[in-house]
Amino acid sequence: MKTLILSLAAVTGTLLLPADTATQSQPGGRIAEPLRGVAHTSASRSMSQADGPASPRRGSRLSQSPAQPASPIVPDARASDVRVPTSDVRVIDLGHPLRESDPTWTGEKVFTHTASGTPGGVDFFGGRFSADEHFGTHLDAPAHIGGPWTTEQIPVSRFVRPAVCINIEAQVRENVDYQLTLRDVHAFEKAHGPIPTDAVVLIATGWDRYWSEPARYRNARDGVMHFPGISHEAAVYLGRDRKVVGVGIDTPSVDYGPSSQFEVHRTLQPLNIYNVENATGLTTLPPRGFTVIVAPVNIVGGSGGPTRLFALIPATR
Ligand SMILES: [Zn+2]
Repeated sequence: MKTLILSLAAVTGTLLLPADTATQSQPGGRIAEPLRGVAHTSASRSMSQADGPASPRRGSRLSQSPAQPASPIVPDARASDVRVPTSDVRVIDLGHPLRESDPTWTGEKVFTHTASGTPGGVDFFGGRFSADEHFGTHLDAPAHIGGPWTTEQIPVSRFVRPAVCINIEAQVRENVDYQLTLRDVHAFEKAHGPIPTDAVVLIATGWDRYWSEPARYRNARDGVMHFPGISHEAAVYLGRDRKVVGVGIDTPSVDYGPSSQFEVHRTLQPLNIYNVENATGLTTLPPRGFTVIVAPVNIVGGSGGPTRLFALIPATR
């Protein structure tokens, strides 16, 4: 878990870091960069109207839509108005760094990285990698199973969103094949309020504790994996009733290990909802009141891709 503190300020409609922190190296070796292109407005348009499943091929470039003014920051890039915290925030890295020894879906090696030269040496230091699109902390684009959008077609408005985190660690301790139930979601909403439309929902199971033990993480017996996931009825509720834009989990799949039909994928993805799988650190998150940033490798025609995943939590929490 790596955290850093950033101070954000709204400057002419754009959130920028103060100049004195913009290039400062932070604990953990992370460098804070200006959050350019993330506009802050009080406008609260309906995402389902702007870029929802009803118009899946439209809206990837909002600058082309007459209803959405082009961004003055990056006129030729996709842009969107979203609400993000404007006070001090703590940034939490919710992704695993990529290593060749990481767990994979099949157990086969799907990631390679070779370096040439030496870090900090007198000659250029470079490297080369190849990876399955569904390796490490990764995005399932809706097109992965039955949905329209490939990776680059997902509007950026869907990657910077208010988030909630439903914690089912206790249930998973009793049953590794536990599936988030509709009752769990209702109990969460009773305690913390309704899940907002267009939010990202993160499911914290605690399964990421086994990440450094690939066989334990896959937990396969007789060819069947065993790890927690989301039930079909909970997926229907999140997708159709709450109209979330994305679902994240700290296991290999939003469908639980023994699944053979992948009903959760088949429920969410045709609704143009993306998944983030193999996340980490979700058990440290508050139930609500924070923002997530999902930043996949932006592969044209991609079914997904390795993804950076961050939570921005107001520092007063
Ligand atoms: Zn998946």
